[in-house]
Amino acid sequence: MSPTSHGGPGRIRGDGAVVARAPAKVNVHLAVAPLGPDGYHELRTVFLAVSLFDTVTVRPAGDLSIELTGEFAGGRSGPDRVPTDRRNIVWRAAELLAEHAGVPAHAAVTIDKSIPAAAGLAGGSADAAAALVALDTLWGTHATRGDLAGLAAQLGSDVPFSLLGGVALGSGRGDRLSPVLARRPWHWVLGIAGAGLSTPAVYGELDRLRAAGDLPSGEELVSPDPVVAALRSGPADALGAALWNDLQDPAISLRPDLRRALEEATAAGAVGALVSGSGPTVAALADDEAGAEALAAQLAATGSFRTVRAVHGPVHGARLVG
Ligand code: ATP
Repeated sequence: MSPTSHGGPGRIRGDGAVVARAPAKVNVHLAVAPLGPDGYHELRTVFLAVSLFDTVTVRPAGDLSIELTGEFAGGRSGPDRVPTDRRNIVWRAAELLAEHAGVPAHAAVTIDKSIPAAAGLAGGSADAAAALVALDTLWGTHATRGDLAGLAAQLGSDVPFSLLGGVALGSGRGDRLSPVLARRPWHWVLGIAGAGLSTPAVYGELDRLRAAGDLPSGEELVSPDPVVAALRSGPADALGAALWNDLQDPAISLRPDLRRALEEATAAGAVGALVSGSGPTVAALADDEAGAEALAAQLAATGSFRTVRAVHGPVHGARLVG
């Protein structure tokens, strides 16, 4: 295998462009410790990469620019507004890789967003991971996968998983990963809300509910073992029964209609359903692909979601396309 991460000049298109894509994730287990003295929450999570992808195209240019396209290019205000300046995580990814490689951070970047922003699906992290992979090839920086993983961890705690893909147990802030075996593809329906939720706001609500005694303190982290065992060998209903998310109650507290959306998913035949990450996306598990198609049709008809998507996972992490 080549010591560099992903192909070389062969992946540069005739027009000079390089294209990479990276997947959304669902946390099939998310246990959150109390707020630490460093201002962060320690996590024990199981990530599953699912078949909803953002695509990042990079072209040679004399400076750095970002353009957004696609269904979820972003709202005009609120947490689902996606910036196109240095506040965009892709901008920071470009600067970080350029600094690492000693090259100018020059590229015209287009992000085609199929992953809604501020939805608990790690769309920004997917874009950062795809940008690292694409720019590595555009600039000929020959970073190893290990180099890119190190840069990814500096960009955000979900970015290393967006690079890796598959299924992985995450600890620390979610950035220390070990792969988990999944013997079969799992079929899901994502119920995507009309407006995003801010991740810091959901963590803040968790802290508030715990301080008020409305939720257990989190001192003892809920074990991921049942989910890991179900992923390895279980029928879908065993995984459905094992799904866990400490951020679900705070997300519902901020967005009470999520409770009804989860009930609708179960009533429509999902074998399990949970809020993905910090929400507000609802991830509903089906028995198989046909079941997911039927569930998607039913959930679309409830009117509780802006849109629904039938997806499967695990899928690969960030990689070049074409
Ligand atoms: P996570 O599940 O990792 O907590 P999320 O999926 O809920 O995150 P993101 O879509 O990653 O959230 O976006 C979170 C915030 O980051 C948004 O409010 C947005 O303003 C900002 N942001 C910066 N760059 C991007 C990007 N490329 N795509 C989406 N959001 C971005």
